[in-house]
Amino acid sequence: MVLSQETQDRIQANWREVQSQVDAAIASSGRSDAVRIVGVTKYVGPELTSLLVQAGCELLGENRPQVIWEKHAWFEEQGLTQPQWDMIGHLQRNKARRTLPLIGWLHSVDSPRLVNTLQAEAERAGIVLPILIEVNVTSDQEKTGLQPDALPAILDQLGQCESLAPRGLMAMSSHFSGGDQARREFASVRELRDQYSQRYPDLELSELSMGMSGDFREAIAEGATLVRIGSSLWEGIERT
Ligand SMILES: *Cc1c(COP(=O)(O)O)cnc(C)c1O
Repeated sequence: MVLSQETQDRIQANWREVQSQVDAAIASSGRSDAVRIVGVTKYVGPELTSLLVQAGCELLGENRPQVIWEKHAWFEEQGLTQPQWDMIGHLQRNKARRTLPLIGWLHSVDSPRLVNTLQAEAERAGIVLPILIEVNVTSDQEKTGLQPDALPAILDQLGQCESLAPRGLMAMSSHFSGGDQARREFASVRELRDQYSQRYPDLELSELSMGMSGDFREAIAEGATLVRIGSSLWEGIERT
């Protein structure tokens, strides 16, 4: 497939627009620290993904391990510099071995069993894997992520895992469309982070991965340090 100049220009423009919206949200919440944008590329194939990297987005998020394997291989074949691939969706334990060496951060640690597997596989690969614990702060028990009352046990466990580097929490709001409800949910993630970084001074829990295309403003107002933005980057693009 040959991608048109028009497509490249549009991706470039979308990337700039998202960056300026994020900057505006940082400014209007009176913050002076940085917020990193994870460009979510799950909607598109490797070529469009590479155009986003070319436009300047070098931190990418994918929610399926197989897709990271495929895109990583494609970048390799093309002789392209690899972006940082962050895993933002559920990682099945039997896919950890193949996935860990390819990723930067794992945002979605959601069970003690997964922690055991990750520790073993990271040690085996000779890496220290930065991770975030995914919490469910919505009232919907069906949503992904650990219940907040499961945090002490998993943080105790992580204290023993030398090949894992806990960096903070990740969460999604209940409706993805912003508003007061989303803001309250993000505030409760921040409160959990504050509470547990005091209780676990040896762990470095400074990061908050929260906010997507529809609710990153609320997330930034509540202290997000990483926003995971997909749809807005692909507006006007035929997704292939
Ligand atoms: C798809 C996805 C995103 C991006 O959502 P958009 O609404 O497309 O910006 C963020 N986080 C996770 C975990 C996702 O699966």
